[in-house]
Amino acid sequence: MLLADYRPRPALVAKTTEVRRPRFPVIDAHNHLAEPFGGGWDQRPVSQLLDVLDEAGVRAYVDLDGGWGEHILQRHLDHFKAAAPERFRIFGGVDWSAWPEQGDRFGEWAAARLRAQAARGAEGLKIWKPFGLHVRDQHGALVTVDDARLDPLWATAGELRLPVMIHVADPVAFFWPLDAHNERWEELLAHPDWHFPSPPFPAFMTLMSQLADLVARHPPTTFIGAHVGCYAENLGWVGELLDRCPNFNVDIGARLAELGRQPYTARRFFIRYADRILFGTDLGADLAAYRLYYRFLETDDEYFNYDADEIPGQGRWHIYGLYLPDDVLEKVYYRNAERVVLRQQG
Ligand SMILES: [Zn+2]
Repeated sequence: MLLADYRPRPALVAKTTEVRRPRFPVIDAHNHLAEPFGGGWDQRPVSQLLDVLDEAGVRAYVDLDGGWGEHILQRHLDHFKAAAPERFRIFGGVDWSAWPEQGDRFGEWAAARLRAQAARGAEGLKIWKPFGLHVRDQHGALVTVDDARLDPLWATAGELRLPVMIHVADPVAFFWPLDAHNERWEELLAHPDWHFPSPPFPAFMTLMSQLADLVARHPPTTFIGAHVGCYAENLGWVGELLDRCPNFNVDIGARLAELGRQPYTARRFFIRYADRILFGTDLGADLAAYRLYYRFLETDDEYFNYDADEIPGQGRWHIYGLYLPDDVLEKVYYRNAERVVLRQQG
């Protein structure tokens, strides 16, 4: 038998708790509505989407797919926001392709674009992972995450009180050699474009220090580090940045596998940073995905699959629930997002 065909089934007798609805109403602070991550809801009736969100107990939903120009943003505003203003927040983005044309004034140009997006109704800024890995300046040089030429953009986000959801790098193993020791080997084999060996790409920790510098240099700007601060494999590192920078927050989108394989550390992390962690799945408006997240956060179920597939996609292991206390759940489910994303006081 090939190792690739090996499908061991746990003999462990463990309880399965079905959590159909969350203990508190949820604000999903990291998600998508368009392809490839959001299930193409921009092509379907909003009423169907609202039915799913109602059934999942999701009160408000951050749509990070507003794009980088005015066109897509306006389409999402017209389609989702106009239909149910209190249920959706649409984030805009940065059009990096204009850098060669704008040169060193790119930061001011991007800041002006952000103002225009905010005037239309964008309520946050999403920075996608090509920033730090692929984005190049007018000389063809890689733009670093802490590049000072972008300061006007971050300052403008702060001034407009638009949260910046930033995703840099990717799972640590995506930066490692693709060999027998790589814990995400099967995934990288299926998606070779997710592999960022250094060189030519910057080292993972280089990107992390640039992220830390960026956040520390802009205290008035609220940052949300996507996917547990972009470094779910090392909650100690994320905690240090949270300690250092009150303007830094994290979401938990697409990181159940990481959090759930370190349940003791993750539970302590949630309790200690209960005011700084935002709920989000990053898996579209999907009822089964929401229920899996609720089960992980609320129960003490042991050793369960974090994926719908028999071979879980983000590493061959199972996870453990965190049975978070109610006061922590309440903050993570919606109170932090009310403050950070909905920009409501209290
Ligand atoms: Zn995402």
